[in-house]
Amino acid sequence: MDYVNGPGRNHLFVPGPVNIPEQVLRAMNRNNEDYRSPAIPAMTKTLLEDVKKIFKTTSGTPFLIPTTGTGAWESALTNTLSPGDKIISFLIGQFSLLWIDQQKRLNFDVDVVESDWGQGANLEVLASKIAADKSHTIKAICIVHNETATGVTNNLATVRKILDHYQHPALFLVDGVSSICALDFRMDEWGVDVALTGSQKALSLPTGLGIVCASPKALEASKTAKSVRVFFDWSDYLKFYKLGTYWPYTPSIQLLYGLRAALDLLFEEGLENVIARHARLGKATRLAVEAWGLKNCTQKEEWFSDTVTAVVVPPYIDSTEIVKRAWKRYNLSLGLGLNKVAGKVFRIGHLGNLNELQLLGCLAGVEMVLKDIGYPVKFGSGVAAASAFLQNSTPLIPSRI
Ligand code: PLP
Repeated sequence: MDYVNGPGRNHLFVPGPVNIPEQVLRAMNRNNEDYRSPAIPAMTKTLLEDVKKIFKTTSGTPFLIPTTGTGAWESALTNTLSPGDKIISFLIGQFSLLWIDQQKRLNFDVDVVESDWGQGANLEVLASKIAADKSHTIKAICIVHNETATGVTNNLATVRKILDHYQHPALFLVDGVSSICALDFRMDEWGVDVALTGSQKALSLPTGLGIVCASPKALEASKTAKSVRVFFDWSDYLKFYKLGTYWPYTPSIQLLYGLRAALDLLFEEGLENVIARHARLGKATRLAVEAWGLKNCTQKEEWFSDTVTAVVVPPYIDSTEIVKRAWKRYNLSLGLGLNKVAGKVFRIGHLGNLNELQLLGCLAGVEMVLKDIGYPVKFGSGVAAASAFLQNSTPLIPSRI
């Protein structure tokens, strides 16, 4: 058995699951309750109203589903589409690959637009496909807002512009698993039809809640979509919404209280401040990577992710060893390189309930591991670059002004 306990806190810097704040842990530390008592529907009603704020929607209908991001994907697809429907999907990394695999297994006709890992979705190709599709055979565009494997953020506003420019009615389905509650996300403004996230990412909860939000157009599509769905059927939820009892099956009471506490924390800090904090942490991490003389896997600045940075290591280093050693020696958890970039990158997740000094601790740890592994890093170089930037840009804590 490997060494598991370590002194002090584990420095959890994988890009999800992320640190759970004490307030959320305490809120979840409670007994089960009767979910049919008046209390849980009353709480659910306010939770549903409040989660709309994280999607920036007033017209969307949210669903809190006992599942993970993968289940949320399935919910989005099966409720809005029929087998054989033609969809466009972008392959840019491991999570977009997995979503495409699911789309194929659900028997959609998937037109895969592939880019190098480290690049964003090719929206020029999207524009040409949409322009050519005069008879509107394309039923949906599926895109991962933030590809967690490579640290690439796609430009969703441009996708909407392309669809609007050609007056194309395709549904716009967005995986916001590693973006929502951390990056700028505007469901209504960008005309997103289904947006989804998972509780263990920027919401900083345990895994187990898939949060899906459907536009009126997506709800309309769900009335005629023929994909088989049972557990994920929105119509079951809607029936119970009407009844005011909300739950077609048993929710996790603890997760609901956790979600309440997580949303309260987000709103106390202010969603815009949360997004700005992620922008700071992202930039500070990239400055450190640059100071170490290493490359970001993300090939262009326009795609830089503020929730995760994938760091490319020199060919003589196996990034898996970095991740292993960080955990074994420094109680620091970094993200592995996945699939095509396995061994070539390690990932620093900087999302969720996290502050500047925590990040600096992680960066100091990375420097020590790099040295351990034989990379000629100058101690303090990344930390100095990041802290110089953070010292200049970190505002007072909003609730303490
Ligand atoms: N989408 C993205 C962008 C992810 O990063 C992940 C997981 O990391 C998933 C989907 C899958 O989510 P889950 O592992 O919760 O099923």
